[in-house]
Amino acid sequence: MAEEGGGEEYLFKIVVIGDSAVGKSNLLSRFARDEFDHNSKATIGVEFQTQVVQVDGKEVKAQVWDTAGQERFRAVTSAYYRGAVGALIVYDITRKTTFESTKRWLDELNNVDLESITTRLVKRIGIAYNTYIVALFSDLACDFHIKRVKLGVYGAHCDTAVARMLVGNKCDLDDIREVSVEEGKSLAEEEGLFFIETSALDATNVMKAFEIVIHEIYDKVS
Ligand code: GDP
Ligand code: MG
Repeated sequence: MAEEGGGEEYLFKIVVIGDSAVGKSNLLSRFARDEFDHNSKATIGVEFQTQVVQVDGKEVKAQVWDTAGQERFRAVTSAYYRGAVGALIVYDITRKTTFESTKRWLDELNNVDLESITTRLVKRIGIAYNTYIVALFSDLACDFHIKRVKLGVYGAHCDTAVARMLVGNKCDLDDIREVSVEEGKSLAEEEGLFFIETSALDATNVMKAFEIVIHEIYDKVS
């Protein structure tokens, strides 16, 4: 465990993904600052925000990453996902197409680590699998807990893969919904995800969505 100032430290990287304009940036600003921006444009600048959450009397730093609008061009890079131990896959309940896209986002999330490991293995190092893993992790220079979870991604502990939550946002717009709660639930069941509907606008379930993911990660690593 990483000891600093006598206490344990936890830093969890969590990524927020999903189609453009589903409300990713507003979910994050609601979570981190309890703010909503009615005129939010494509996110520029900020890569992530860190929020401290208490779990089991311990301090957990949730480092939540937001895309900079590159999802519009389907150009989210593997660096965005690298080291993530949690993910919110967001759709807009009033736009069916954004719900249909969640499968693609899930594929991308599932593939990216394997892709980067293969690429680096072949192109850069070309050494034995295990040696490579060690190299990759020291390279990341993350906290021990993160490393343990990352190992899980490669199958060392298969129960410690990325904690994933399917999020149906804009539930305040129930009168124009195109995706039912049942549809959301059944996709989540099929894919083995948590499921929740949120509203970044009126704050419904936003803290809860992040907290469930954070608790799940914590349970896996503690
Ligand atoms: P992103 O592209 O996924 O980051 O989406 P944004 O957070 O920029 O939001 C896109 C648009 O949806 C903005 O006009 C927001 O004001 C609006 N929006 C985001 N969340 C909600 C919500 O929960 N309810 C409603 N009614 N509008 C929302
Ligand atoms: Mg955004």
